[in-house]
Amino acid sequence: MPEGHTTHALAGRLNLAFAGSPVGVSSPQGKFAGGAALLDGLALLDASAWGKHLFAEFAGERWLNVHLGLIGKFSVIPRPAPHGDRPVPVQGQVRLRLLNAAWVGDLRGPTVCAVVTAEKVEQIQSRLGPDPLRPDSDSDLALGRISRSARPIAELLMDQAVLAGVGNVYRCEVLFRHRVDPFRPGREIRTTTWQAIWDDLVMLMPLGVAFGQVLTTDDQVADALQAMAEVADGSAAAQKAVVTGARPGDHFERRFYLYKRTGEPCRVCGSRIRTQLVAGRNLFWCGRCQRRR
Ligand SMILES: [Zn+2]
Repeated sequence: MPEGHTTHALAGRLNLAFAGSPVGVSSPQGKFAGGAALLDGLALLDASAWGKHLFAEFAGERWLNVHLGLIGKFSVIPRPAPHGDRPVPVQGQVRLRLLNAAWVGDLRGPTVCAVVTAEKVEQIQSRLGPDPLRPDSDSDLALGRISRSARPIAELLMDQAVLAGVGNVYRCEVLFRHRVDPFRPGREIRTTTWQAIWDDLVMLMPLGVAFGQVLTTDDQVADALQAMAEVADGSAAAQKAVVTGARPGDHFERRFYLYKRTGEPCRVCGSRIRTQLVAGRNLFWCGRCQRRR
């Protein structure tokens, strides 16, 4: 399932490809024909993300709201040459297509694809917890919900009303990075522990945006931070441009502390990694390392 870094990277790519000029909007599959007709030919003003929700504002105060869900994919790629009016072939079930002279964006399999009002956007956002990738986010809002809850911290981190954008991989890995017992009730988690988790996500998730993959192990994080620092202004957007321009696919070896490593030895203590369903997804943890609260 795409996590928040995917949505934020997508918003950036939509802005790069489409912002500032009219966009051809259609629904090749037909399921979104009515919504597409409302947006077709309008200028896309700005795309942004809040957690796993994507919001694209069009002229005329119309907003496109997309949630990729478990299997959704939104590819935004340069339009195959020659550019111009020649039709771009449709592959698979394309719910929504965005098109201009240079780019084509095809959305397949989303949970949500809807044209909404500004009020509805506010309503959706008001139900979401703070997003570590949004500079205006207030981590205390999440702390307030966590510190009053009897639910395990591993479940709370997945609750988008508590914290927006974190999915299963970041959940498992960040709890391990801080050696936190995933089954501790939220109200037993120390304030300093929560602040350390939040600060870590604020540092880690932009690396996910920049490199298009979740990076959590100390060595890979150090390499990614180094690479970011070497880019002109150090911004995630600048790094993203470098990385996607040079190398398609994963930039780093796909490697985690815990994720999908059931039965394998913990990279720190050698104990076997365990797994259990928490909040509908497989939690992975190390029973020996993760005892803090
Ligand atoms: Zn361990």
